[in-house]
Amino acid sequence: MVSSRGPGFRRCAWALALGLATTVAVAWFAMFWPAGRHGYGPPAATDLGLVMTSDGRRLWSLSEGKNASHRVISYWFNQVSGHALMIPTADFEARKFNMQTLPRHLRPDSIDDLNMLAWYREVGWPMKALTCSIHWRTQVRNADIIYSVRGGVQLPRDREFQPRALPLTPLWGGMAASSLLYAAMWFVLLASAARWRTAQRWRRGRCLRCGYPRTGLREGSLCPECGQ
Ligand SMILES: [Zn+2]
Repeated sequence: MVSSRGPGFRRCAWALALGLATTVAVAWFAMFWPAGRHGYGPPAATDLGLVMTSDGRRLWSLSEGKNASHRVISYWFNQVSGHALMIPTADFEARKFNMQTLPRHLRPDSIDDLNMLAWYREVGWPMKALTCSIHWRTQVRNADIIYSVRGGVQLPRDREFQPRALPLTPLWGGMAASSLLYAAMWFVLLASAARWRTAQRWRRGRCLRCGYPRTGLREGSLCPECGQ
């Protein structure tokens, strides 16, 4: 294939496309790895604190899990046997958490929008590139809970009934930074592959441009295939 813009331009375009594809593939991989007993990604084991609904009647616990490629904020409505769990005001004040300190994509507009349980996730490496959230919707039976996904595509639940989702909402800064990094890597790879191919053609006496065998042709004559 011959382009009027030259091999450098084509290689850049390919490197950028592959860089973007790599960023998305790595982010999706991070979404499902590792799948332990706690579900996908790192366990949300770090307590962030409590958030109260605007009517002052429902408490939510927020916790966080983090590794190099996956960050999750979990929101859990405090209840026992269907009854909202309340604590003394002094205890609440001591554990109160300001949700506004979280990035916009890792929290709901208001805690009142949530129902029972939710996970907000951002994934990607080296920068976080995609985000989505998974929400408790209704309970059919004990472990049979119907979830919904915002900012992504819902996948069938796994054998442990863990909800799965493919994040589709880009975090533009991280997406661009990771893509450029991977694109640079791809550019180097593509350039070395091209150099290697040229060296092979040289050694086998083929046209350096299209690879047509030049055996029997006069030295310096034009390639009968591509005219180079
Ligand atoms: Zn040729």
